[in-house]
Amino acid sequence: MSVTILSMASTLTEIECINPATGAVIGKIDNMGAAEVAEAVARARGAFAHWGSLSLVDRLDYVRSVRDGLVASTESLCELICDETGKIYNEALINEFLVTAELIDFYLKHAPRILGKHRADPGLLKNKKAYKTYSPLGVVGVISPWNYPYSLSLGPTITALVAGNTVVLKPSEITPLIAIESQKIFAREGYPDIFQVVTGDGGTGAALVTSGVDKICFTGSVATGKKVMASAAETLTPVILELGGKDAMVVAEDADLDRASNAATWGAFTNAGQTCIAVERVYAVAPVYDRFVEKVVAKTKSLVPGKDMGFMTFPPQMEIVKRHVADAVAKGATILTGGSSDGMFHEPTVLVDVDHSMDIMTEETFGPVLPIMKVTSLDEALEKANDSKYGLSASVFAGSSEVKKLASERLDAGSVCVNDCLVAFGVASLPFGGVKESGMGRSHGEEGLLEFSKVKSVVSDITGLKSDPQWFPNKLMSPTVIKKLMRFRYGKSIAQKVKGAIGS
Ligand code: NAD
Repeated sequence: MSVTILSMASTLTEIECINPATGAVIGKIDNMGAAEVAEAVARARGAFAHWGSLSLVDRLDYVRSVRDGLVASTESLCELICDETGKIYNEALINEFLVTAELIDFYLKHAPRILGKHRADPGLLKNKKAYKTYSPLGVVGVISPWNYPYSLSLGPTITALVAGNTVVLKPSEITPLIAIESQKIFAREGYPDIFQVVTGDGGTGAALVTSGVDKICFTGSVATGKKVMASAAETLTPVILELGGKDAMVVAEDADLDRASNAATWGAFTNAGQTCIAVERVYAVAPVYDRFVEKVVAKTKSLVPGKDMGFMTFPPQMEIVKRHVADAVAKGATILTGGSSDGMFHEPTVLVDVDHSMDIMTEETFGPVLPIMKVTSLDEALEKANDSKYGLSASVFAGSSEVKKLASERLDAGSVCVNDCLVAFGVASLPFGGVKESGMGRSHGEEGLLEFSKVKSVVSDITGLKSDPQWFPNKLMSPTVIKKLMRFRYGKSIAQKVKGAIGS
C-alpha cells in the first residue's frame, strides 16, 4: 500500500489507501488535525466517567462479546488485512487474528487476579496491614504501525479497555481500514465512545501525543519513538514505546540444523520480513556453517510466492531493503539466492560473506533478507548478537542444556527463544517489549495490563491504639532500642553465628 495526500475536498485533506499487490485504491481516510483529535479525546474522557466505574466483571463481559464479534467476522476482516498489507491469508489469520484472540482470552481469564487487591508484606510494621490496588489511568492514546495493523492496534486497545481506560487509536495512514472496520464491531457491542479511531498521518499522531491523554502506547520506528517521547515529556505524559529491532539468531555447534534452518527461513521471510521480531541476522559457528547455509538456501529456493510469502506493504520500505542489499554487496557480501524485486514483491534473499561494516547487519532492514555470518565460537556469536543498538528479541539453536542456558542468559533482548523464533510474542502470558533502542514498557501478560493501571499503596493500622511508638513524644523508640532492633533484624544470621562460633 502506498499513500497519496489528495487535494483539499472539504476542510480536511484525504489520504488514499492502496492495495500494494494490485495498486488499486481501496479506500480513503480523512487526514485529521488537532481539532478532530481533541474532540475524540474529549468524547473518550466523557465515556471514561462511566466505563472506568464499571466492575471488572462488566468490562470483561463486554470484551468477551467484542471477541465473539471479531471472531465471527474473521473472514471479512482477514481479507481486508490482506488487501491493505499485501500479506498472505494465513499470516493475517495466525499472526494477527489468532494472536489477538489469545491475548483477549488471557485477560478474560487472568485480569481478575492481576487487577485484584494484593496483600503486601508490611515488613517491620507488624501493626499494619499493607496492600496494593489498581485503577484505570483515564484516556489512553494508541498509535500503531502498518506491519500488523490488526494485532498491534487491537492488542493495546483491548488491554487498556480491560484495565478500565477508554482509548483513542491512531492507526498507520498506510493501513488504517482494518482499525476502522474493527471499531464498528466494538461500537456494535455498546459503549460507542470508549474506543474511537482517529485517522491521518504523523501529524495526527503528534496531535494525539499532546492532546492531554493519560498515556501513549506507541508502536513504530525508533526515529518516531524518539519524537513521541520528546513531545510527551513536555506534559510528562507516560509512554510505552514498542520500537524496531535487529533480531539475531545464534546457531551453536550442537544445534539440530534442520530445525534451525527451517526456523531461520520462516523467521526471516514470514510477513515478507516485515516483522519487528523477524530474524534479521544469523551467526552460525564455523563447524556447522556450511551445512546450515546449504539447508537455508535450499528451503528459501523452495518458497512459493503468494503461497508462502506475500508482498511488501510500504514502498519506502522496499527502497530501504534494496539499499541494504546493495550496500552489503558493495562491501563484499554474496547473494546466494534472491536479490531481485518486482513491484512490491521482493524475493526472499540469503546473503553470506557479511560483517558488521554493512547496514544489513546493524540497521533494521524490515524486509525478506537473511544475512548469515560465520563465527569462530559461541562466544563470538553472542558478542556479535549483542553488538547492536537494538534489543527486541533473539534466538539460539543448540543441543546441550548448558549452551541453551548460557545463551538465553547472555543475549541482551526483551525476549529470547530457545530452539525457536518469533513465538515469544504469541505467548500472551509473557511480557513483550525491548531493551536498548527497541523501546520501553511492556505489552502482554501481567506487566502489559499493569502498564494501563494506576497502582495505589494502602497501609492500614490494625491496632486501634491511641498512638504509635515512633509518634511524638517518641519515648519508646530511643536510639538504643532502634539499634538493638536493627541488630536483631539485620544482624548476622544464626547460621553465620554458629559457623563463627565453631570457627569454620
Ligand atoms: P513509523 O514510526 O513510521 O509510524 C508508526 C506510527 O506513528 C504511524 O501511525 C505514524 O503515522 C505515526 N507517526 C508518525 N510520526 C509521528 C509523530 N511525530 N508523532 C506521533 N505519531 C507519529 O513506523 P512504521 O513504519 O509504521 O512501522 C514500522 C516500524 O515499527 C519498524 O521499525 C518496526 O520494527 C516497528 N514495530 C515495532 C513493533 C514492536 O512491538 N516493538 C511491532 C511492529 C512494528
